[in-house]
Amino acid sequence: MADKYLKKEALEKLIAAVSSSGGCFIAPTTDARQVVFKSVEKAADITHDYVLARNSYKEFVFPQTEVVATFAVRQHGIGLTGKEVAPKETVIFGARPCEAASLSSLRAVFTWDFIDEFYTKREDRTIVMTVACTTGDEACFCTTVGLSPESTAGSDVYLKETADNGYLVQAISEKGKAFVEKYAAVFEEQAGAKTKKLFMPEKIKGIDLAKITGRLKNTGHYDEPVWAELTRKCIGCGACTYVCPTCHCFDMVDEGTAYEGERRKNWDSCQYDSFTLHASGHNPRDTQFKRWRNRFMCKFSIYPDKFASKGCVGCGRCVRVCPVRLDITEVMEELSK
Ligand code: SF4
Ligand code: SF4
Repeated sequence: MADKYLKKEALEKLIAAVSSSGGCFIAPTTDARQVVFKSVEKAADITHDYVLARNSYKEFVFPQTEVVATFAVRQHGIGLTGKEVAPKETVIFGARPCEAASLSSLRAVFTWDFIDEFYTKREDRTIVMTVACTTGDEACFCTTVGLSPESTAGSDVYLKETADNGYLVQAISEKGKAFVEKYAAVFEEQAGAKTKKLFMPEKIKGIDLAKITGRLKNTGHYDEPVWAELTRKCIGCGACTYVCPTCHCFDMVDEGTAYEGERRKNWDSCQYDSFTLHASGHNPRDTQFKRWRNRFMCKFSIYPDKFASKGCVGCGRCVRVCPVRLDITEVMEELSK
């Protein structure tokens, strides 16, 4: 499919067209002085001047909380009724290329030993319209983990801003091509509009991913003092895991009374001390640095070992949100030595 062109003002029509076909349009919008992904109903609500939305759009494919079943005590046992998920078309506009790449990381986990339809059905109905970065900040490090603002992995439709207040549009996936065809009235033929210069974060020279993964393979690193030294300041708030586009841990909780209620799937965080607490009271990750080490290992050892997708896409959200400014790239540099 040849590249197309989308005028910024045509976003109004696109939102209306998606809504009238029963879909939902998510975009970066400003709320309490922060840029967040939210459902929008008009183009004027979209914020265009941002580095990355504060929240990851993962919450639209993997909600913070959802009911997966209901239960009720009946005369002859307990009745459990599973909940069906029937998602509507969901357009995520304004994702950045780093986090678009994270969808395959989530899919890898949610289809690994069990097909979690609560995730897969939503992702199948999601269209990711990535907008390549023309701005960034010191927390961005996508180029250090092998991505860049030019990466199209995970995007259904990839957009580059043009100097004349529009976007150059490339349909990447089959889903993206079908989307551009479905809403063809909104897109125009590409007539050579000049694209803006992309923001290219400098690769962090002291980081060597192969060395990190190699070092983490040998469990001898567990006792290295570097972990406690570098991560002692972590207060275990879990914010890094909630904003991270690849973090996916969840817990199942029954809520209600002893007679009836709901089974919920809730986001969880490996940074909480109760995350690995056994019923016996024993906790294999009984200090914060062990919990932080686990998150780091998940990103740079467990993921690369099990899946082809990335555990960390270098979006820098965890760096921006951390209340004690624990910078994952500093640990990566140290572990690269
Ligand atoms: S670990 Fe941090 S930088 Fe890496 S993907 Fe998660 S939030 Fe982004
Ligand atoms: S955001 Fe910072 S303080 Fe909070 S759990 Fe993550 S690393 Fe620790």
